[in-house]
Amino acid sequence: MGRLSETYLVSVLKNQCPRCRKGKIYSSKNPYKYGETVKMNNHCPVCNQPTQLEVGFYYGTGYVSYALSVGFSVATFIAWWVIIGFSLDDNRFFWWMGINAALMISMQPLFMRLSRTLWLSWFVPYEKDWKNKGIIEGERMIEGQENNW
Ligand SMILES: [Zn+2]
Repeated sequence: MGRLSETYLVSVLKNQCPRCRKGKIYSSKNPYKYGETVKMNNHCPVCNQPTQLEVGFYYGTGYVSYALSVGFSVATFIAWWVIIGFSLDDNRFFWWMGINAALMISMQPLFMRLSRTLWLSWFVPYEKDWKNKGIIEGERMIEGQENNW
């Protein structure tokens, strides 16, 4: 384990390149800016790692995003259960459903970024010596098709 800022979890949560854990994956700082949510740098600005390894590379992230949403709902359900509780005699369950849904919708841009960052991190391993090692090249990339999905 290196410094905290270089651990896997921290770099994923900060949407940093999985290879060097320094460069930013997304071109815009603000995930809530319209049209910028999943706009990525084609290459890591620090170590030059491509962020698109093949055509349709991020196609599977819908499942990751779904899993994140389910995990988030389970977490809020448990927190609500512990802090507020559920009862058949009142509307507390429906309050949880409404608040959870509102939270999930408002956090969608964050989930979308996180799921892509996670996805990339499962294909591109951390390279401590990234300055001296070769990058993991994309296969079957078509110029002009980048960022098209
Ligand atoms: Zn990098």
